[in-house]
Amino acid sequence: MKIIEYTLHRLHLPLREPIGDSQVLFVDHWMTVVELHTNEGKSGVGFQIQQGMPTASLSDLKTQFEYGIWPSLAGGLPLGLAQRITRPRGGNVGGGYLTPSVETALWDLIGKQQQLPLYQVLGGDNPRVPAYGSTLDFRLDDSDFRVKLERVREQGFTSVKTKVGHPDLAWDLRRLAIVKEVMGKNVRVMVDANEAWSIKETLIRMNAYRDAGHAIFWIEDPITRDDYEGYARLCAELPFTRVNTGEYLGYSGKRRLLEHNAVDVLNVHDSISVTRAAAWLAADYGVPVSLGNTILELGVHLAASLPECLCLEFSDLVWNEIAVEPVQFEDGFAIAPDRPGHGIELDRDKLAFFSSP
Ligand SMILES: [Mg+2]
Repeated sequence: MKIIEYTLHRLHLPLREPIGDSQVLFVDHWMTVVELHTNEGKSGVGFQIQQGMPTASLSDLKTQFEYGIWPSLAGGLPLGLAQRITRPRGGNVGGGYLTPSVETALWDLIGKQQQLPLYQVLGGDNPRVPAYGSTLDFRLDDSDFRVKLERVREQGFTSVKTKVGHPDLAWDLRRLAIVKEVMGKNVRVMVDANEAWSIKETLIRMNAYRDAGHAIFWIEDPITRDDYEGYARLCAELPFTRVNTGEYLGYSGKRRLLEHNAVDVLNVHDSISVTRAAAWLAADYGVPVSLGNTILELGVHLAASLPECLCLEFSDLVWNEIAVEPVQFEDGFAIAPDRPGHGIELDRDKLAFFSSP
């Protein structure tokens, strides 16, 4: 099975409501969809998004793809290409923005060739993965936050991650109280400060949450991403919660976190190859991982196949509208599709609707 052709689509996806955290606010996503076609009539599809800022035009994306990526794919075998290891060198990496989407499309093709769902190709044997509702709520007022939490509860989630990092501690405490009120007192709560704090402020806030009766399963990205010594200190000085970080770091940064004993739960949601490499390294350190949001929830296949993946993030974003059948969530679990490949077939009408050349 050889790759002989490709198709690109550029989509503009206005969000149903603003999403954001203590640092950013987004009202739309731009998505690029990459389809790779083979001489056997099969197609693999991959996705990439950019938040808040338009991508290059479709014709510019095509030019970048044609010259930066296509020469390394044309006539190639999906399995060999997906397993290829390249050493990052200088600025001469090629592809950039679209590389992870190509990898997704390659693994989709491999699954279709094997007639197996992707999680099985990657070594998983159970399609059900614990998941949590992630509300991305920092920019919502209390009443919109409640509505969103009610939706999360109705979807069957018993774990929730909410945003903190407001300058006013009372704001954080009020929001944590709302989580309990809507979700019930047995809810598992994670919080994400998106690098809003110093080390000292993190210690003050986490102790304040605890004193107010809020058990926090993990605190995510409290301080700046590359403060490895600081993260090591927080892991040691916050014995009553877990420190989740790594979301903003590439593979090398994740490795440094592990080397510094600076992470309790490693956040992995890169391309398939980088995520697997980071998760394998984390397993060697005895550190569990969590999967952050992945486009069209395709991380479910990774989560089902990785060692010690605690849970998968779900934010119910607009991207699922372009799937004929998106990844399903039930009773707090994500279910990896049992269809060959990653199992996401494109809804061509929706693709045309969101198309923005
Ligand atoms: Mg986060």
